[in-house]
Amino acid sequence: MRLIIVSNSLPVKIEEQDGGEFTFTRSSGGLATGLSSLDIDIETLWIGFPGIFTKSPEKKAEISQIFTADKLYPVFISPNQYQDYYEGYSNSTLWPLCHYFFVYVECVEAYWKAYQEVNKLFFDEVMKIAQPDDLIWVQDYQLMLLPNMIRQALPDVSIGFFHHIPFPSYELFRILPERADLLEGVLGADLIGFHTFEYMRHFDSSVYRILGKECMLNEISVLNRKVYSDVFPMGINYDLYHNSSDDVAVQDLMKNYTELFANQQIILSVDRLDYSKGLLNRLKAFASFLENHPEYIEKVSLVIVLVPSRDHVDQYNELKIKLDETIGALNGKYSQMSWIPIYYFYKNLPFEELVALYNIAHIGLVTPLRDGMNLVAKEFVATRKNKDGVLILSEMAGSAIELSDAILINPNNITDIEYAILTALEMPLFEQKERMEKMQAIIKKQSVQKWAKDFIKELINIKEKNNKIKNKFLYPKDFDFLKKAFVAANERLILLDYDGTLVSYNKDPQKASPTESLKELLLKLLQLPKTEVIIISGRDIQTLENWLGDLPLRMVAEHGAYFKDGELWVKNATSDDLWKDDILSVMQDITDKTPGSFIEKKDSALVWHYRRVDNWLANLRVNQLVDMLIYPCTKQNLQIMKGNKIVEVKVAGVSKGDSVRNIISKKKYDFILCAGDDTTDEDMFRELPNDSVTIKIGQVSDEARFNLPDTKQFLDLLNSLV
Ligand code: UDP
Repeated sequence: MRLIIVSNSLPVKIEEQDGGEFTFTRSSGGLATGLSSLDIDIETLWIGFPGIFTKSPEKKAEISQIFTADKLYPVFISPNQYQDYYEGYSNSTLWPLCHYFFVYVECVEAYWKAYQEVNKLFFDEVMKIAQPDDLIWVQDYQLMLLPNMIRQALPDVSIGFFHHIPFPSYELFRILPERADLLEGVLGADLIGFHTFEYMRHFDSSVYRILGKECMLNEISVLNRKVYSDVFPMGINYDLYHNSSDDVAVQDLMKNYTELFANQQIILSVDRLDYSKGLLNRLKAFASFLENHPEYIEKVSLVIVLVPSRDHVDQYNELKIKLDETIGALNGKYSQMSWIPIYYFYKNLPFEELVALYNIAHIGLVTPLRDGMNLVAKEFVATRKNKDGVLILSEMAGSAIELSDAILINPNNITDIEYAILTALEMPLFEQKERMEKMQAIIKKQSVQKWAKDFIKELINIKEKNNKIKNKFLYPKDFDFLKKAFVAANERLILLDYDGTLVSYNKDPQKASPTESLKELLLKLLQLPKTEVIIISGRDIQTLENWLGDLPLRMVAEHGAYFKDGELWVKNATSDDLWKDDILSVMQDITDKTPGSFIEKKDSALVWHYRRVDNWLANLRVNQLVDMLIYPCTKQNLQIMKGNKIVEVKVAGVSKGDSVRNIISKKKYDFILCAGDDTTDEDMFRELPNDSVTIKIGQVSDEARFNLPDTKQFLDLLNSLV
């Protein structure tokens, strides 16, 4: 087993020298650090964009050769493609959407096309090196289509996906024309990780509302496997930051900075230049603080480190201009001979300089409007060796969930930020230490190493769980062994559910009549010697009789309420209809409030159908209906049954399971095949002997021995028997 990481960029910096030679330096980003000290013994390979464009096949070969020695596999992308995929779809569509900047979202067809193409380029590279027992861990929003591409080609390989940015609420995500493709893409993975439960909740809700796939606990059933979503808050290399001031070079830099800032109390802010970081609000709050608290003039300075980022995207350029103007104006207004309010660095600082600043600052000011996690907040806290200093943190950052001992602010509330600055400056040392200590304990434990380890361990666990499920899955090659058992048997019984088993599930219940070829198949089965075929359905007598009445079939209607053996239909349970009025009025109330739902009145049952109702609303209404039905049903000894997009009420003791028990008690069979797609069919599976061939169509079930993905394959199986 090997681990293949796939991320937009490889963890290397590559530079072409004047002579055309390349130099490489491994960068120590979070993920690379996390993986470097895993205590799981696993060979790690990495696929990603090498950060350089070249058309020349020789240069590509040269780069690939050097990289491969280091187990790095470059994906070469053309500049145009990269522009539309990275700056376009990734950073001008998905990024603003996921950070709730709705008005910045650009829906451009060429971006989407490039996104698909580049995901495919990554897929091609994966296919060159992946082996079936590898773990493949796909990183982030640039590669949301990749998991399913891999799944289609390598159905058994284990795939993880980590979404490093916020996942927006369904109401926002639904605006994307490609919303369903992206979700289907991600669901190719076995495990989908998020930084916070909020993001996971939004993702699960989008999957449910857009794809109609329900998430039970944290499991989503997708044909023959289960996809799990879970929360893994990413951490940092705690010791590296915590011990940074032991380094002499860092100590020298700290001294330099302390002199430069003339012993001011330093408020530090470090971000990539991005509109999601709330930079303008931060400046407004600081301006307001200076205005309202002149006593702090000459005593406090704000140090802003801005890392250049995505400067080809318009919004980033505009923001840069606004920031320059605002900082210039503030410094113009407040600066004195010996003091300036804002120091501004617009560059990517080397590690030593960054930690020197963390070390000498008094306040870390982190105010993003939205941020997937925000590692700067964690790095600032980790660096405080003496446990002094205060973190002011936006509640819209993922890290606020763990760092709840920071001063939490709403980044849209300027007064809130201003007040937090004042509180931080006046906070007694014992309180600073108390808060820092608690936060450090948390981030020390939840380090980036633990993050990577937890995710990979969970992926391995899921691989085992899904393998068990896969063993239930019948492939055409398995049909032979079933046929052998079938042929060898002396008394054969075939129990068949109708909707979703013999005909595919239809939103319009009237449009599910049998095709001629299905009827021919049933007739052939009926003509086999020593073989009984029984249709066991929830449908009413009338419908079954119309559709299948001309075949010499035994049938069970209304989930066991009626039975046809020979020409006549017989009622199984005797009951009057008096119970129906109460139940009908409850169902009517719910139907009136639920567009698209309707009530079916059967002889033996009342059924509330909701197959055309919005998934979320349906879920709410089912819970409400069942809640309202419990009392009248208990009082009158009625049963409530949840089926496929239905809730049915009928007298107790009538079910598909009861019918099956009855059938097998009358005769001994040595081969029983029973198939169904619904929870009501699981009642049948439960009643049958363990060696029966019970087959769940669609989502895997614990009750059935086998699983087939859809009706077509089940009909293939039946055809193989005749
Ligand atoms: N960082 C850096 N150089 C700098 C300033 C910051 O390498 O000059 C690093 C910082 O240490 C942190 C990362 O950039 O690890 C920023 O991560 P964060 O989660 O805070 O924000 P993101 O950039 O991912 O939105």
